[in-house]
Amino acid sequence: MKTFDVAIVGGGPAGSSCSAFCALAGLRTLVLERERFPREKVCGDCLNPSCWPVLERLGLTKRVWDLPHSELTSVEFIAIDGHKVIVDLPTGEDCELSIKRSLFDDLLLEHARNLGVHVHEETTVTALSYSSAGKACRHWPVTRTVLDAPQERGCNALHPGWKIETTSGDSFLAQVLVGADGRNSTVARLRNLLPRPARERVALQAHIPLPRNFGKRIVLQFLREGYSGQAPVNETELNLCLVGTPPTISRLRQWAQQHFEIPADQPWRTITPLTRAPVPCSHENLLFIGDAARVVEPFTGEGIYYALRSAELAAGAIAKIISGKDRQFALREFARVSAEMYRGRLWINRLARAAVLSPRIGSLFVPAARINPSILKLLTAKIVSPKL
Ligand SMILES: Cc1cc2nc3c(=O)[nH]c(=O)nc-3n(C[C@H](O)[C@H](O)[C@H](O)COP(=O)(O)OP(=O)(O)OC[C@H]3O[C@@H](n4cnc5c(N)ncnc54)[C@H](O)[C@@H]3O)c2cc1C
Repeated sequence: MKTFDVAIVGGGPAGSSCSAFCALAGLRTLVLERERFPREKVCGDCLNPSCWPVLERLGLTKRVWDLPHSELTSVEFIAIDGHKVIVDLPTGEDCELSIKRSLFDDLLLEHARNLGVHVHEETTVTALSYSSAGKACRHWPVTRTVLDAPQERGCNALHPGWKIETTSGDSFLAQVLVGADGRNSTVARLRNLLPRPARERVALQAHIPLPRNFGKRIVLQFLREGYSGQAPVNETELNLCLVGTPPTISRLRQWAQQHFEIPADQPWRTITPLTRAPVPCSHENLLFIGDAARVVEPFTGEGIYYALRSAELAAGAIAKIISGKDRQFALREFARVSAEMYRGRLWINRLARAAVLSPRIGSLFVPAARINPSILKLLTAKIVSPKL
């Protein structure tokens, strides 16, 4: 059985960047990813400018710019009655790009692999067991999917750690485990930490032919049944997202078919939940990052930033734990800086959520912003402002 310092479940932006930072810190690092990359993912494909400093620290800025992309210049908010308000986005090096997730995620995972990370694709994690501090089982428990108390199994004093089992039949050992497996995190579920999801909304996403003269704008459009996000991802394709409730989503799809003249059999990717309570990010030798830790409202397009930055913070904590520094302190510090990352931003998230849960109320922002544009300018500036 192969042994690692750290095993990361999920190879999305959170998992791949955490693994890259761990490898840069000299750790033996494993990533287990359910899909084979490149793969698409339900997302608006927009890279918030806050991502740039983290991508720079990963040494990836130029390679991201080299991917097919659109450099977005403005956000256009459209109310239910069709009224519009346009807010400019930052330009130059701090600009917002849109890049298909198949390309962006693949670049990150490939970068991790090149840094020496062991990446196993098409490998779904199905079971976890843990032997707690200072003790380990002589033979690892193999049948139970939740924490096995080492005392129950007559354990010897050895190194603590995780046993991770997968659908491929391979098992792995690691001292530290990271849950980077998205909003429906298997790691959180296996540890009985996954909150009950709020399945009040569902999202659909597709790449469709780019309408003529669409320009380089993001469109956020309130509709009676929910909202739609639109952004060009290259010279020929538009990312189209629809967010509604289970009863309204088929009407949103019909709206999209008419509005964009797309066929009735257009394939859509789908995802739920759109929000849920957070999972505490730091436990004994177990950390959660990205969507697995906290799902933010997609309307503000910040999820990839939180994935990248929480990954970097987790890697810093893991490097300390593996090097034998005070583990409790490292974990507490990780929890503190993670919470700080969201501080002052959750109200925007709540506001966005309230607006999109009630598109009529959300639509009121648009005429208000036409009278006083500083409201939306301020909100947009907050969302795309540099973080860390
Ligand atoms: C409609 C919508 C639009 C959005 N638009 C934007 C946007 O424009 N900009 C933005 O920044 N954010 C956006 N987001 C949010 C963004 O998509 C997420 O925040 C981001 O993908 C989180 O990255 P992650 O690495 O944490 O998780 P993910 O990207 O979900 O990656 C998790 C990975 O874990 C793997 N996995 C899952 N279970 C297992 C398992 N058991 N074993 C092994 N592997 C497993 C999955 O295959 C996946 O590759 C949007 C979200 C939605 C729903």
